[in-house]
Amino acid sequence: MINSQRISEEFQRQAEIDSPSYREAAMADYLEKRFRVLGGSVEYDDVGAKIGSDSNNMYIRIPGGKNGDPLLLSVHMDTVTPAENVEPVLKNGIFTSAGETILGADDKAGIVEIIEAIEVLKEQNIPHVSLEIVITICEEQGLVGAKHLDFGRLQAKQGIALDTTGVDIVINRAPAANRFKVDIFGLEAHAGVCPEQGISAIEIAARAIARMPLGRIDEETTANVGKIEGGLASNIVPRQISLCGEVRSHNADKLRLQTELIVKALEDEVDRARIVLNGETRHASLTLELHEDFPLMQVPPEAPILQLIQAAGNHLSRPQEIRAAGGGSDANIYNGQGIEMVILATGMSKVHTSNEQVSVEDMVRVSELLVEIIRRA
Ligand SMILES: [Zn+2]
Repeated sequence: MINSQRISEEFQRQAEIDSPSYREAAMADYLEKRFRVLGGSVEYDDVGAKIGSDSNNMYIRIPGGKNGDPLLLSVHMDTVTPAENVEPVLKNGIFTSAGETILGADDKAGIVEIIEAIEVLKEQNIPHVSLEIVITICEEQGLVGAKHLDFGRLQAKQGIALDTTGVDIVINRAPAANRFKVDIFGLEAHAGVCPEQGISAIEIAARAIARMPLGRIDEETTANVGKIEGGLASNIVPRQISLCGEVRSHNADKLRLQTELIVKALEDEVDRARIVLNGETRHASLTLELHEDFPLMQVPPEAPILQLIQAAGNHLSRPQEIRAAGGGSDANIYNGQGIEMVILATGMSKVHTSNEQVSVEDMVRVSELLVEIIRRA
């Protein structure tokens, strides 16, 4: 029932449309027309102008003639770079890119699989609940489109994002993350003439970092200082340094605790760094920007959406493997907004490299599973 030729052609067309983050307009145009042909109503929000993209998040509704809560399907229309003049090549049933660009199977394989599933539902007159399809922009830039999503447009309480590697894999857990940026301010002085009149921001940062719990904290939690920048020259006691980092955990309490330990290390070391200059005590100081990068995704095994996917997989004799992920995705944002969403593997592999690929056969398999899931929803 799945048409592999139609899948090939659809993927070829989409891969040929360059759609790096912030420049998704051509892809949005194509998808709008494509989903209208499939009977979908298409709307946009107005996020693009706020975040510097030439497009907006797209909201599609496909009626299906069956009562019940709609099912949400989520994908993203942007890709990582290099994505200039992508030339998809199909050889032995596998799509790769001809040149040094990425292929864009992340996330176009997922979009193609949704389109094929809808084609089949229509051809076979299979009744289904309404589908709400969200296609976000700028996912690859830190879930920027999803973070600005207009959730008021959505009625679905559960959904599936199609956006992970492999086949017959479902992601139900992903960590939450906090991100921080710290500026430490000391006191500038000539390093050779009067170093005692300076407070070295680099030294404070070094002491604080040495105290921070970093790397793998435990099986659920990681922390990292990923960027450090500061100082002017070898002969100047540095006045300023900035550092950026993150904490991730599958456990909200651990996330908070590790973040607190990092902040405390910084505050303690800044507090200790003081000198007396001309009878006056001079202090170091800091400014801290700390924010939630993305919320926790933790869909329990008994959740209806997981039961639904597993039942569909079992029906096709393809038991689905339930796994945790180490990174955040649009699904984290939906879960943070109370929509139970898991992530389904789309067959793509070697993503974010010029060796990225996806086989037509795997896209056929995912479309087939998707039809069965939607039919049962
Ligand atoms: Zn992706």
